[in-house]
Amino acid sequence: MWRASVLTIFPEMFPGPLGLSLAGKARDAGIWSLEAVDIRVHATDRHRSVDDTPAGGGPGMVMKPDVLARAIDAVADERPRLLMSPRGLPLTQARVVQLAAGPGVILVCGRFEGVDERVIAARNLEEVSVGDYVLSGGEIAALAVLDACVRILPGVMGAEVSAAEESFAQGLLEYPQYTRPQVFEGRPIPDVLVSGDHAKVAAFRRAEAERLTRERRPDLWAKSPAPKSKP
Ligand code: SAH
Repeated sequence: MWRASVLTIFPEMFPGPLGLSLAGKARDAGIWSLEAVDIRVHATDRHRSVDDTPAGGGPGMVMKPDVLARAIDAVADERPRLLMSPRGLPLTQARVVQLAAGPGVILVCGRFEGVDERVIAARNLEEVSVGDYVLSGGEIAALAVLDACVRILPGVMGAEVSAAEESFAQGLLEYPQYTRPQVFEGRPIPDVLVSGDHAKVAAFRRAEAERLTRERRPDLWAKSPAPKSKP
């Protein structure tokens, strides 16, 4: 079983959306498990404080290293330990595939201005970002990381091939999709997709994936390892 432990001061946010649909069914089926650990349980003072004022001054509060370290130690094993953080390396599908292939993850959710730097070093936390914008806490980022991992666990998605074809799998964005009706508000499905010619369909999809990647994500296009078809 792939095991996720999430450290948070809002354990009631979990499983949230991951209790429904594919992820929820997979959890019921025992393909993965989710444990939400309340960081506050590991606070020792009378007020159960998890945060304190920043050294050097400034606005907001910082999560205390001692409390967080105890919470981490209570669940730590061979699983990678990730800290949700806007300063982290942006999460990629390649990293998601690695994480899904391992035993599971321990995810630490920050709040307030963030986490004391020393616990990041002392507990060897890998900082991971879900994008260049700031959330109010790590919980929604953790849900995103878990969703991305769980959907590719063996037995979760119906058609396993679809994971190999979708966006980022080959360094390209996915080709456009169509379904019935044949004509929608005057726009027909491209002829080639209803031609029944599988080679032509594959070539069309490939060209479209390349066009979209080139137009929308020149950064991905420059790095794409996929051999480029001649325009
Ligand atoms: N003051 C910090 C932001 C703190 S936001 C800074 O400027 O970098 C509070 C918490 O939300 C963070 O500790 C982190 O756990 C989470 N968070 C915010 N944005 C995130 C992002 N883009 N990716 C992952 N986690 C994020």
